[in-house]
Amino acid sequence: MYDTVEHHPDRRDILTGGLLLGVAGLLSACAGGRPNMPDAVWPGQAGSFDRASRPSTTASPTPPRPVQVAQPTDYFGRPSNVIPRSRWTNQGIITSRLTSNGDSGRMGRISRITVHHDSLDNGSIRSEGEAVRRLNLVRTGHVTRKPDAFADIGYHFVIDPQGRIWEARPLSYQGAHVKGQNENNMGIMLMGNFDYNRPTPAALAALEGFVVQQMHRYNISHGSVKTHQEMAATECPGRNLQRSMLAARNRGGRIHSA
Ligand SMILES: [Zn+2]
Repeated sequence: MYDTVEHHPDRRDILTGGLLLGVAGLLSACAGGRPNMPDAVWPGQAGSFDRASRPSTTASPTPPRPVQVAQPTDYFGRPSNVIPRSRWTNQGIITSRLTSNGDSGRMGRISRITVHHDSLDNGSIRSEGEAVRRLNLVRTGHVTRKPDAFADIGYHFVIDPQGRIWEARPLSYQGAHVKGQNENNMGIMLMGNFDYNRPTPAALAALEGFVVQQMHRYNISHGSVKTHQEMAATECPGRNLQRSMLAARNRGGRIHSA
């Protein structure tokens, strides 16, 4: 089933509207807007983009842990360690927004990664059900955003405090997570507000492992793994996660060594 652009409020919508508007306001601080149109390069038109399982050739005194996750053979396919989107929503992409309001189009070749937080406290998230509720809250904030509502949740992958990795916006679509810089850019979000939350060891391990996995898969260098605040004027992903990302990218860090 596909969502529609039109919205018919019912009683529940009216009751939750105030909350969602508030969340939308919070989320807009992190969300990208009006990205440019995607590249005219499409998978399958210029040979295979698939670099799955490309081994690292970088010598390092502290070699990273081997990544043993099965990668799909198609360029945008979901890795086996990622929970499918169908586990948290049956909503589709609002495709009419992909070109009508400046939101993203199809993803081209993936050449960079940007890390975010959702800026919402993560203290209540432990079970899968709690993570599912947060995913839906974030998606609703993005698709009801004013102005320029997104076609879907803006990020491609979301990591919860237990270290579960969730498929969010399908990777075959350009994200909406860094204003004007969504082309070729994979968006990964950690649930939490890391100005005061600290990333859990499980979430941080999952993030670093997943980033390394995707760097190998798409042949991305550590210099092309950024945080939102390194690309735009924003607090995202919060000072605690920013510090962790800097450590991971420094010499000896897991991302640097990838
Ligand atoms: Zn962000």
